[in-house]
Amino acid sequence: MQIVVQKFGGTSVQSEENRQHVIKHIKDALMQEYKLVVVVSALGRKPDPYATDTLLSLIDYPAGQSSAREIDMLLSCGEVISSVVLSNELKKQHITSTALTGAQAGFITNDDFNQAKIKAVHPERILKELETHDVVVVAGFQGQTETGEITTIGRGGSDTTAAALGAALAAERIEIFTDVNGIMTADPRVVESARPLDVVTYTEICNLAYQGAKVVHPRAVEIAMQSKIPMRVRSTYSEEEGTLVTSSRLQEAGMDVTERLITGIAHISSITQIRVQTKEEAYRLQSEVFKAMAESGISVDFINISPTGVVYTVPDRHTEKAVHILKTLGFYPEITKNCAKVSAVGAGMTGVPGVASMIVQSLTDAGVQILQSADSHTTIWVLVHEEDLKAAVNALHDVFELSGLEKQS
Ligand code: ADP
Ligand code: ASP
Ligand code: MG
Repeated sequence: MQIVVQKFGGTSVQSEENRQHVIKHIKDALMQEYKLVVVVSALGRKPDPYATDTLLSLIDYPAGQSSAREIDMLLSCGEVISSVVLSNELKKQHITSTALTGAQAGFITNDDFNQAKIKAVHPERILKELETHDVVVVAGFQGQTETGEITTIGRGGSDTTAAALGAALAAERIEIFTDVNGIMTADPRVVESARPLDVVTYTEICNLAYQGAKVVHPRAVEIAMQSKIPMRVRSTYSEEEGTLVTSSRLQEAGMDVTERLITGIAHISSITQIRVQTKEEAYRLQSEVFKAMAESGISVDFINISPTGVVYTVPDRHTEKAVHILKTLGFYPEITKNCAKVSAVGAGMTGVPGVASMIVQSLTDAGVQILQSADSHTTIWVLVHEEDLKAAVNALHDVFELSGLEKQS
C-alpha cells in the first residue's frame, strides 16, 4: 500500500469553505491511488472558538493555576475536534474516512508536558484502519505517555506529527499544506516582494526555521531528513507545487551548481537584551549568570562574553524573572526590551568575503541601529529594535536581491 501523508494547518481547516480546498487535495491524491494519512491542526486562529490560543484563554494561562498536564488535556482537544470535523466532511463526500487522536494513532511521548518528545510511533492501528478506509485523519500535535497521560509536543507541532507518521509509515512523501505558496525568501507578512523557493535542502530550511521562519517546524524537517522522505511545503489554496525540501537541491532541480549566497531572511521578535557589567570578578559573573538562567529554565541566546561583562538575550516573556534572579545574585542588569533577531541564512556564504559588510552597510543605509551581531558559517544574525524589524528584514532582502529573480531556486 502506497501512503502519502498530508498535513493541513489551522487556517486551512478554519472554515467549511477552506476545508473544500483541503478535500480537493485529498481527492487528487486518492485519484493517484494513494492511501492517505491526513494530519490536522486545530480549527483556525484565536478568536475562532476551538483554536489553540482560544482554548488557552479559557484558563488563567500563563499565570499558572492549571498544571502542565491539565493544559495538555485542554490543548489536545483542538486537534481532536478538527480531525472529527474533517472526517465527517469527507464522509459526506463519500470518501471512506476515520479520525484518530494522537494516542490512538500510536504516538508515545515522554512526560515533558507542553513540549513532549516523541519516543515512538506505533503505526499498526493506522495501517489496520487503512485496510477499510481510504483516509485516516489524525489529530496533530499530541500523543500519550506510557502511562496514558495526554501530551502535546510544542507549538507548531502538527508538522512534526506529519513527519513522524511519514517516517513510521515509510510514506512516499510528506506534504505540508499551509496558507502561503511554499517556503519563501522571507516572511511574506513582512516583505511584500518575498518569493517562493522551488527547492531547498533540509539543512537550509532547518536553519531558517530555527531562526524563526515558522512556515514549517524544524523538528519536522529533521525527521524527514533522517528518514529520507521528500517533503513538500505548499499552499492549500492553489495547484502550485510549492517548495520541495530535499537533501540535494541541485540534483533534484537538475540545475547548475551555482550556490546561492543567501537562501532567505528570518526573524524572531519579542526579545530582551540583558547586559551585566562588572569591573571585577568577571569569572564569577559569567558562571553564575548562565547557571542561574539554566536552573530557572530560561533559554538564553546571542551570548557575548568579555572581560568586563556579559550580554545576552532572553524572550520578552522571561525578562521579569531573569532580572529578579540577577538582582538576587547582586548584579545590576541593563535591559533593552522589544528587540528582534534578524538572520540572513545561506550555506553559500561560507568563506565568501564581504557578506557581513553588505549587511552592516545596508542596515546603516536603512537607518537601522545594530545592537549586537554574531555569525556562523551559514548564518549572520543581528539584533535590532523591534520597531526597526520591517526595515531591517526588507533591507537585507533587497541587498541580497532575493526578490530579483522570477523564481528563486
Ligand atoms: P500553519 O497553521 O499552516 O501551520 P503557520 O502560521 O504555522 O501555518 O505558518 C505559515 C506562516 O509562516 C505564513 O503565513 C507566513 O506568514 C509565515 N512565514 C514565516 N517565514 C516564512 C517563510 N520564509 N516562508 C513562508 N512563510 C513564512
Ligand atoms: N495547534 C497547535 C498550535 O497552534 C499545533 C499546530 O498548529 O501545529 O501551535
Ligand atoms: Mg505551523
